[in-house]
Amino acid sequence: MDGTNDSLAEDNVLESRRLPVLAITIAFLIVVAMSLLGIYGIQVVNSKARELAQARQTSGNLAWSIAQQATDTFDEANLILEELIERIEEPTPATLAKTQKLLQQRVFITEQLHGLFYFDREGNWVLSSFDYRPPGANNADRDYFQFHRENASLAPHIGAALRSRTTGDWVIPFSRRVNDAQGQFKGVVLATIKMAYFDKFFARFSIDDKGAIFLALPQGTLIARRPFDEKLIGTSLARGEIFSVHIPQAPAGTVMVKSILDGVDRLFGYRVLYKYPLVVAAGNSREAILDSWRADTYKMTAMIAVVLVINLLVGILLFKQIRKGLQVERHLKKARAVLQPLVLQDGLTGLANRRHLERNLELEWRRAARQRSSISLIMLDIDHFKSFNDHYGHVAGDHCIGAVAKAIGQCVRRPSDLAARYGGEEFVILLPDTEAGGAYVLAESLRLAVQALAIEHSENPAGVVTISLGVYTCVPTSSDFQTLLTQADSALYMAKRGGRNQTVPLA
Ligand code: GH3
Ligand code: MG
Ligand code: MG
Repeated sequence: MDGTNDSLAEDNVLESRRLPVLAITIAFLIVVAMSLLGIYGIQVVNSKARELAQARQTSGNLAWSIAQQATDTFDEANLILEELIERIEEPTPATLAKTQKLLQQRVFITEQLHGLFYFDREGNWVLSSFDYRPPGANNADRDYFQFHRENASLAPHIGAALRSRTTGDWVIPFSRRVNDAQGQFKGVVLATIKMAYFDKFFARFSIDDKGAIFLALPQGTLIARRPFDEKLIGTSLARGEIFSVHIPQAPAGTVMVKSILDGVDRLFGYRVLYKYPLVVAAGNSREAILDSWRADTYKMTAMIAVVLVINLLVGILLFKQIRKGLQVERHLKKARAVLQPLVLQDGLTGLANRRHLERNLELEWRRAARQRSSISLIMLDIDHFKSFNDHYGHVAGDHCIGAVAKAIGQCVRRPSDLAARYGGEEFVILLPDTEAGGAYVLAESLRLAVQALAIEHSENPAGVVTISLGVYTCVPTSSDFQTLLTQADSALYMAKRGGRNQTVPLA
């Protein structure tokens, strides 16, 4: 019986509805790959944003500290000019000589100063920190001079870088207008700031090789720049994004712009000085900022690619294996469909075999017990069959068994009834939901049908092949379904004892 239960369980496994494994596997692998790519994408975008935010902060700080130091540089020059203006209010040749000494001293001790000058209202040199004075020296042609002559403002003015007339050095003119007691234009004081000073000053800040720092006038004229390039000094940056777009919107900020001078993308921090008409800007190149991010991204991309390839390979392997498994399962189902009837069928007669009977017997017994209905069992056996064999031979014996089975099959027509070959020339008919009367009637019709076959049997007193039948009917109360067989067998035994070719009912 255990064997039967096992095969029942196997049947259930084969027949149970299963999830679409192949589809789920493919979906799972796709989800894994997509998630991986998604997470990776977010990570790449975020880390780039982080790098840029950090660089933005760096540029902002850089611009702020350069602005601070530039302000200090011009503050010093401004104080000196102020002192000079005071000293030339009431000039006498003696004070002028003293003042010139003072100017020389100031230039000597102030690193950024190249020279100090005082020009009268015609532009003639009155005072200078230089001992040498070019003959007929006049600066009325210089932009700063004309600016002060035409503008009443006493605020300092910074001009575009130019080459000094005295030394030929690049200098930045820092100048102020001087008025007489009536408030009329009296002349101009000028401090020239060494461009070389800014080169040194810019060199103190750390930026990458493609980064840049510059100082420009508010309208965009470039005054000083790192990296230094003489050709660029005096160029106008007015068309550049910083001057045309960002400064009109905010006096300080950080912006990613493409340089109009060299085409390099830089993240600039810029700042308009609030004390002097100057703009400072400093920034690292986008390339350098994203260098480590790019390297990390390449590495990670390679790793992700490897993982995805492994995912794909495992996926293909799994896909093939599952497909193979499904093929095997289909074959098994097909084979089972062919084999199952054979397993439950008797080879000689085509009736159900003993295994089939036992399986149904238990099921029907339990059902009858549940429904409190009658269940009947007929057990029948061919009379004097041993002597039939002995007399007519085994082959004839087999034919006889076949003929009897056929007759039984013809009589048992209800779909729920089951006729089985139980042993050699012994048969059992299981009749669910059948009262004793009905079972007896069927048994008798079987007996008559076999007799009517009129198979010659000289060793049988009847002269033809006959059968004896035992019938047992009950409403099951216990779980012992074997009772059906043993009781029907006793009834059959009684029929044999009673002279054969008869039916004995037992209830
Ligand atoms: P009884 O009337 O008491 O049944 O006498 P019997 O000779 O039929 O006795 P029993 O039922 O014990 O005999 C069974 C005989 O049936 C034994 C064997 O020779 C024969 N037999 C059993 N199975 C087969 C079979 O498959 N083919 C053939 N040809 N003979 C079989
Ligand atoms: Mg027998
Ligand atoms: Mg017999």
